[in-house]
Amino acid sequence: MGYVISPPPVTTLRVEGTGDEFPVRRIYCIGRTYAEHAIEMGHDPTKEPPFFFQKNPDNILKDGQDFPYPSKTEDVHFEIELVVALKSGGTNILVERAMDHVFGYAVGLDMTRRDLQGEAKKLGRPWEIGKAFEHSAPCGPLVPAERVGPLTQGAVTLEVNGEIRQKGDVNQMIWKIPEMISYLSDYFTLAPGDLIMSGTPAGVGAVKRGDHLVGRVDGVGELSVRVV
Ligand code: MN
Repeated sequence: MGYVISPPPVTTLRVEGTGDEFPVRRIYCIGRTYAEHAIEMGHDPTKEPPFFFQKNPDNILKDGQDFPYPSKTEDVHFEIELVVALKSGGTNILVERAMDHVFGYAVGLDMTRRDLQGEAKKLGRPWEIGKAFEHSAPCGPLVPAERVGPLTQGAVTLEVNGEIRQKGDVNQMIWKIPEMISYLSDYFTLAPGDLIMSGTPAGVGAVKRGDHLVGRVDGVGELSVRVV
């Protein structure tokens, strides 16, 4: 038996400090994890249940690659996010066991066609058109969890052309990483290779061609992307 077309390539992320690659299965993204960002988007940040959307593995833009300004939009926003990578999964994962499933962390960007997302919200339509487009998930190399240590605090920042535009701290998340994993696993079967983009702090804004974005998460590393 053969394939009638070539099987699509597996998207992988480099694992920092090794020659190994991490294959990506799914990308879950959480909305409104940081109170200040919920407020800037016009929402009440009191602890309502988390909600998720997805990007596609082949939307990943690897560290060092340029971000091509996408089509059909005039308002592309950056959202700096801590990315959590799973080495195992399951369903109904208890909060207390959730961290056992974490392989490591990366610095990522949830690039968003804000105008198209806004329209979708207004019309009660899905978000893919605003969120899951080509190159919409820039992601740096993964750092294994044992090298990062407990990640309950640490600055999450984004610089555009050398100027700090987003600044938050992992300790400001309304939903903590183990809670996100547990909650997701009640609705989906999580599996090795899944990534969770854990939401963005306040300060999101538009990019233009020529911009240089540098995202950082304390203890994890840095991601550098140029908009072309
Ligand atoms: Mn986001």
